[in-house]
Amino acid sequence: MLKKSKIPGSAQHIIKTLKNNGYKAYLVGGSVRDLLLFKSPNEWDITTDAFPQVVSKLFEKVVPTGIKYGTVTIIIKGETFEVTTFRKDEKYVDGRHPSNVKFTKELKQDLARRDFTINAMAYDPVDNELVDIFGGQKDLKHKIIKAVGDPVERFSEDGLRPVRACRFAASLGFKIENKTFAAISKTLKIVKKVAAERVCDEIKKLLKTKKPSIGIENMRNSGVLELFIPELVKSAGVKQPEPYHKYDVYWHSLYSCDAAPKENLIVRLAALFHDIAKPECKEGETFYNHEQIGSEVVAKLLRKLKFSNEIIGKVTNLVENHMFNYESSWKDSAVRRFIKRVGLKNIPDLFALRLADCSAMGRKIDNGYLKELKARIDKAIKEENALHVVDLKINGKDVMRALKIKPGPKVGKALNYLLEKVIEDPVLNDKKNLLEMVRSYEP
Ligand code: ATP
Ligand code: MG
Repeated sequence: MLKKSKIPGSAQHIIKTLKNNGYKAYLVGGSVRDLLLFKSPNEWDITTDAFPQVVSKLFEKVVPTGIKYGTVTIIIKGETFEVTTFRKDEKYVDGRHPSNVKFTKELKQDLARRDFTINAMAYDPVDNELVDIFGGQKDLKHKIIKAVGDPVERFSEDGLRPVRACRFAASLGFKIENKTFAAISKTLKIVKKVAAERVCDEIKKLLKTKKPSIGIENMRNSGVLELFIPELVKSAGVKQPEPYHKYDVYWHSLYSCDAAPKENLIVRLAALFHDIAKPECKEGETFYNHEQIGSEVVAKLLRKLKFSNEIIGKVTNLVENHMFNYESSWKDSAVRRFIKRVGLKNIPDLFALRLADCSAMGRKIDNGYLKELKARIDKAIKEENALHVVDLKINGKDVMRALKIKPGPKVGKALNYLLEKVIEDPVLNDKKNLLEMVRSYEP
């Protein structure tokens, strides 16, 4: 049964206040599902028959966050609660947005517009009433994701729902019910039309789950993956040399992603895509330059999916550098070159990627060499060696003055040239000396 003590006092207060004023109010969606699964809900959505204007008047701090859809956000003691008026969605003309949002007095209609039975339950903690019209509890028990109503119809209304089904399969470890699963391949044309930003949000949520591979494999089998990440589909069946590798490129990528830290989106993305160019680079048993080509493929792919430039920059950097091969024989200058190439702040992520990559080969991991490299990096930092352009004893302004040039790419190139010299020999990092060197620099 549902544990009332797990529900924050403020959420109970909101529901009580609405009810005391003659309205209906319930917790709804993910929070009810998670409470029934004995998990901690990540948010507390409330549904009510009171109109947004009424809700706004009943509480002190209210922000109209989605007023077009009947949603306001109540803030109590720094916590936020989305309160949405009972809605029935009208026709979907484009498979993306309801063409019209209508309020209703019927909770049943509000639940009927929701995607899956396990997400279509409501709970009133004041009267301890659980409303489960579509068999959500039964499906939770059997670990099944099942559309509310006819799945083809429901997916035709909103093409994001199939992507969500795959995401929930991973986050909950559930199976998508047969008819619901079959409906995905029948509605791919609609799925294709969904705004990339919405797909991106679902992928981010998928990558936070314990085993994203479950969701991705569901996406592949239903045809969704082909729409958004066709490169990954191509990696299935691409063999890798044994005994080094146990899996093909596709499964190696998925298992790497599972093995990466789940709270680190950058490493999870890099793990999933680090070998994305292997199919096109395969020549016999080798994949020459796949890290370089892979970083270009990933940049394009993530751009298409509307990931931020910051994320794209970090992920492509990791993919490009994932093949580093440290040996104890590296000179200190080689360690410094490695730091410069990867960027000091990106090294922990690159190491995390390497660990995930190795563990997904189905072999025992020996990370002793990473520990050694880390110790040598720490030594390079301690010695206060210049590792990045900002560590040089002269800056862009000095370069412009010395070369009598205006701001432009030439300045950066000159600084980079100096840094390369200093990395080889740290003694050169002296202002007078660098000025002399830059004066004789020919780009
Ligand atoms: P999570 O725990 O990941 O937040 P959630 O079930 O709360 O999962 P949300 O995206 O936060 O998912 O949506 C809240 C609720 O709104 C869902 O439980 C579902 O009832 C409904 N919902 C969300 N997106 C859709 C959609 N595209 N179509 C139909 N109903 C949806
Ligand atoms: Mg939610």
